[in-house]
Amino acid sequence: MVKVLVATSAMQGTRDNDYNWCIEGELVLLLPVCRRDREDPDGGCGCGRGFAGMNSHRATTTAMVRTLAGFSRADYAEAVRSSLEAQGYNHHAAPRLTDYLLDVVEDLPDGVVVEKRLDDIQLRQVPM
Ligand SMILES: [Zn+2]
Repeated sequence: MVKVLVATSAMQGTRDNDYNWCIEGELVLLLPVCRRDREDPDGGCGCGRGFAGMNSHRATTTAMVRTLAGFSRADYAEAVRSSLEAQGYNHHAAPRLTDYLLDVVEDLPDGVVVEKRLDDIQLRQVPM
């Protein structure tokens, strides 16, 4: 059983530059931010605020923490590896990236919606 990040449409539109091109519920990756958006999570590319869909190879600005019963760390690492490979990335980084993903959500409760602000993953707040 591992805690993972999946794409969600929940809380989309909280920020006016939200987007969601992922498949609802698919696993997502955290990929390095490109040079264009390196300093700005609200930049023109959008990857500074985006989670990358492992299956769709598209992106979303909202992800949900989910505990998957019957899904092991090895299963997760294999999903990460095959997604990186399918997208033409260096898949040898998969074990390290898997550890990073697990680390990011470790202290977050099941079911919360998170957003990405460059290197930070934070809880999405309900607008006042
Ligand atoms: Zn980018």
